[in-house]
Amino acid sequence: MLYPIWLSESFSTSVLILPFALTCTGVILPKQFGLRQMMPLGLLILSMCLSAISGGIGSLSMILPALVWCALSYSLPATCLLTMLTGTAEVLMVDAHWVHNGLSGNLTQIFSARMGIASIAVSPVIVAVSVLAINNLVKQLSARANYDYLTQVYSRFGLYEQLKAHEKKPNATPLNVLLLDIDHFKHINDTHGHDCGDTVLAEFARRVTQIVGAQGLVARMGGEEFAVVMPDACGGNGYRLAEKIRAEIEHMQVEWDGDTLSLTVSIGLSHGQAARRQLVDVFDRLLSEADSYLYQSKKSGRNRTCASPSLMDKQPVSFAS
Ligand code: GH3
Ligand code: MG
Ligand code: MG
Repeated sequence: MLYPIWLSESFSTSVLILPFALTCTGVILPKQFGLRQMMPLGLLILSMCLSAISGGIGSLSMILPALVWCALSYSLPATCLLTMLTGTAEVLMVDAHWVHNGLSGNLTQIFSARMGIASIAVSPVIVAVSVLAINNLVKQLSARANYDYLTQVYSRFGLYEQLKAHEKKPNATPLNVLLLDIDHFKHINDTHGHDCGDTVLAEFARRVTQIVGAQGLVARMGGEEFAVVMPDACGGNGYRLAEKIRAEIEHMQVEWDGDTLSLTVSIGLSHGQAARRQLVDVFDRLLSEADSYLYQSKKSGRNRTCASPSLMDKQPVSFAS
């Protein structure tokens, strides 16, 4: 009978200690210490006390609901730590109980109690591992939805998510919307191939992102059309940025298969004020206004910025030939 006792002790010790030993490099403490974060821990302590008071083999499973709640609320290392501590306390309680009542004739119950504790300890760890896997998957999926795979700028969906987050700010926001469309992009595809077109799109987005920096958000709206949104910026800043992008893209060169390609971009710019919680609606209106100005840029010869006369009047306009 000693072999099963040794086995049950080794098994329960390993099940309690190994998960924590393997995961303790991660974050253990929760980011916030509010009442809500403390409730699972409170319930665990309460169930531990109830289990100690009521005694008996069945009482050992009283901590399971609280441990599962901890697994759903805390990080994997924190769950493993709590499982190890509560499991160890239960093993000690069981051992103390049997030592007090005499070991003889009770070896089967000791074996059964230890194996029961080990089984209980595995469940919250499995739940915590599953929660971690689901959270990682959600992060991956939202990164895929929020960013454009080819150009690494925001997707249209990602841009709206950013605007919704910005919308929570209490004050009204001035807003610039720049709509950028690469000129004669189809010609690049037709002449050098689709792969070359992809490289040009990625290089264009990288350059625009660099120029815009912290002044705004860059998003791919579809095909070779990009938007730059500048919250908290006056119309003059929008026009200056648009012209800077236009001029820099004109001088940008992309190497492809021994050839040096150059391109130009046409831009439509609109400016407006978004009242509190109106940012997304105002953005939609400004996007359609910027689209009309973009159309005007294309019609009047491409490689230029068009905006409402009030914005353009403030600036000396010099179109590159
Ligand atoms: P315009 O100056 O009037 O804007 O002319 P354009 O040729 O740039 O515009 P058009 O709408 O005629 O053509 C856009 C092309 O962009 C057609 C489409 O095949 C290509 N395109 C759209 N998305 C992608 C992409 O992800 N990769 C590549 N390589 N091409 C794309
Ligand atoms: Mg185009
Ligand atoms: Mg287009």
